[in-house]
Amino acid sequence: MNCLFCRIIAGEIPSSKVYEDEYVLAFRDIDPQAPTHILIIPKTHYDSVMDAPPEVVGRLTETAKKLAVSEGLAEKGFRIVVNTGDEGGQSVKHLHMHLLGGRSMQWPPG
Ligand code: 5GP
Ligand code: ZN
Repeated sequence: MNCLFCRIIAGEIPSSKVYEDEYVLAFRDIDPQAPTHILIIPKTHYDSVMDAPPEVVGRLTETAKKLAVSEGLAEKGFRIVVNTGDEGGQSVKHLHMHLLGGRSMQWPPG
């Protein structure tokens, strides 16, 4: 298995888990870009959001919303990001949603 996030799901690479269920795993980003920076991934491999069915994308979004509450971000706000493809800045080719919060975000993104 040469997918980094599939190896994290399999437990071959350690991660700082914050949530797990039958379908979804969430863990802290190794290089956080905000005080809270969590990656939410489906346990089934999809290269990007372009390949994933709506229920998978929905589970990631619902998990992000729950974690925004449990991480104390919901009131002040947060950002959800799904980098897609090379120009979208996707470096790991396993669909993932970033949940970022705990500071004011800038717009436009770089
Ligand atoms: P992308 O740039 O593809 O949207 O996001 C990939 C994210 O994965 C980056 O924010 C990067 O810091 C994170 N990342 C890369 N390798 C690891 C790792 O081994 N463990 C964790 N927890 N995060 C990782
Ligand atoms: Zn994978």
